[in-house]
Amino acid sequence: MRSLVRALLARCPVCGSRGIWRSYGQTVDACPGCGYRFSREEGYWAGALIVNIGVAMFLFFVVFVGGMLVTWPDVPWTGLLITLLVVMGLAPALLYRQSKTIWVWLDQRVHPYVGEERDWEQS
Ligand SMILES: [Zn+2]
Repeated sequence: MRSLVRALLARCPVCGSRGIWRSYGQTVDACPGCGYRFSREEGYWAGALIVNIGVAMFLFFVVFVGGMLVTWPDVPWTGLLITLLVVMGLAPALLYRQSKTIWVWLDQRVHPYVGEERDWEQS
């Protein structure tokens, strides 16, 4: 659970280090805190794209259904549409970092980081 919180805060899911970003959306090659290699293989970040789309779809659902439930029966359709356009326009960009760290967190659930890449005794 702690590693998920780290991922949601766009930190290294393995150790919690903040210095994993070279630029807004580009990670460093390896975490300065634990040595975890973020550049795994060709196409690795396609999973982060799927996470980003999934989060955007979830936000769409929450805003759309929540907006309808809160304002029912006089739903302001135009206002709801504008709100959805703004949310769907901004959320994927604003949550891009989290998409990558959540993807690393998910990958860690399936393929734990062991062996010569990292000393597990550190955490
Ligand atoms: Zn780390």
